Amino acid sequence: MTDFAHTRALFELPEGVVYLDGNSLGPLPKAAAGRVMRTLRAEWGEMLITAWNRAGWMGWPARLGERIGRLIGAPEGSVMVGDTLSVKIYQALAAALEMRPGRKVILSDSGNFPSDLYMAEGLIRTLGQGHELRIVGPGQVADALDESVAALLLSEVDYRTGRRHDMAALTARAHAVGALTIWDLAHSAGALPVDVAAARADFAAGCTYKYLNAGPGAPAFIYVAPEHLPAVRPALPGWLGHERPFDFSPGYAPAPGIGRMRIGTPPVLQMAALEAALDIWEGVDMAALAARAEELTALFIDLVEDSCPELSLVTPRAPARRGSQVSFRFAEGYAVIQALIGRGVIGDFRAPDIMRFGIAPLYIGEADIRRAAAALADIMKNRLWDRPEYRARAPVT
Ligand SMILES: *Cc1c(COP(=O)(O)O)cnc(C)c1O
Repeated sequence: MTDFAHTRALFELPEGVVYLDGNSLGPLPKAAAGRVMRTLRAEWGEMLITAWNRAGWMGWPARLGERIGRLIGAPEGSVMVGDTLSVKIYQALAAALEMRPGRKVILSDSGNFPSDLYMAEGLIRTLGQGHELRIVGPGQVADALDESVAALLLSEVDYRTGRRHDMAALTARAHAVGALTIWDLAHSAGALPVDVAAARADFAAGCTYKYLNAGPGAPAFIYVAPEHLPAVRPALPGWLGHERPFDFSPGYAPAPGIGRMRIGTPPVLQMAALEAALDIWEGVDMAALAARAEELTALFIDLVEDSCPELSLVTPRAPARRGSQVSFRFAEGYAVIQALIGRGVIGDFRAPDIMRFGIAPLYIGEADIRRAAAALADIMKNRLWDRPEYRARAPVT
């Protein structure tokens, strides 16, 4: 059984703060500062360029990929770290379209993250082959799958509402019409048990700065089902994805496996932080994490619904249909979130009217949930959000 009091003690959590925004940026693992400092001083400082070999920097993207693979049910040799999630989505989608010549539709839903949709539009323009991005409501995806669809591009958990798709069922449905799937795991990896192999996902990608806690700007990861790897021709063929980068040959030849999804020089300092963040996951039982997430999200929903009748729940009530997040709708949600932050309860806001609360069991407990719900009840009941300074929008919401 995982001891969540122990995992909580491994994070820097400022006194007096209830942090319900780990779905945007996870908190600092205490060990990360020392780990990054070691890379700065003992590796970069002492070894200079030789650290690529002597400190093993060049092998980190693959090694860290293996460790993330264990959290998402990926077999060995199928996950690579690097770049940003938007870039990894582009790579996966480009590969999928090339594997389905003759099909012109990318199917996605209105709950997908805008960057995923923008990447799809950009790729369509670059290819110039008449592809089309078709966007349907989250409940219409299964029915919209037909034999025109080359690729189904979805976020497993909706970043705004927390609604969770059934990855295995939709993947099976996509495969039945001959389409490939690309799953965005931004709000799944480290939030829920994920099993890309059991779900038979073709491609998946996610970020490491949200529930995996690797820090702002930490690199993304990409998963490619091993049976597809030989057929994947990278659309962004960088030198570090070459089979022999240090031949510096003018012609590109892809690395034999998942290595071909690398592009260029990886962010070493962020990978040091990622390594420290992943240490915390050693020994975390994902089933225990899921049970705890279910308990805490249900408690938050109950407490808020009992005390804040003005707020409407947008997250599904059925635990299996939601991620580790709870969202409520309220027209003045932005101001409410600012008032909460003023009381040390940090959530966030997504336009036009959604208040989001990420509930990461690694460091959030029942006392946090009760404190956050009580603060929200007080702010709503006494209209404490109704002040001009809480309405002034900052660039990041
Ligand atoms: C956070 C998020 C992203 C962000 O992509 P970056 O390239 O890392 O900025 C993409 N997709 C989803 C679903 C997200 O929630």
